Amino acid sequence: MLHVTYCTHTAARSWISIEWNATNRIVSAAAVMTKECTSKGCKAPMPPGLVDEGLCLLHYTLHIEEECAAIRRETALGNTSHDRQMELFRQVADRGDVLVSVATSGFTMSDEMKARVLSTLLTLMNTRENMDRSAMRQSAMRRFA
Ligand SMILES: [Zn+2]
Repeated sequence: MLHVTYCTHTAARSWISIEWNATNRIVSAAAVMTKECTSKGCKAPMPPGLVDEGLCLLHYTLHIEEECAAIRRETALGNTSHDRQMELFRQVADRGDVLVSVATSGFTMSDEMKARVLSTLLTLMNTRENMDRSAMRQSAMRRFA
């Protein structure tokens, strides 16, 4: 008996699982739905590494970009508490971890998506750098106050 699962759609939205018996007769065929992104109107599949986030790769990168913009706004004035700063450092590092592990997991991506992943990583790196700079400015200002 042979058991084959193949994609019925280029975006890998649904899969069909087919079983043949020894005389090449199909004994069962079932559509297996992969989980879809929870972002409104988006039907893209979620890579296994993003199931916890509930987002497809595109929406995960958009989510990170928004978060980074919020972090920059929050830390720009340089009056973030030490604890909050540590929390944000962790958040930036965690997002990078997940993004890299999905991108290198063998999940099929277009060249455009690969470029988007790289630019989101750059955003994370720049956000971290910005936070360090404003923290340094803050401590320099305290010294001269
Ligand atoms: Zn999506």
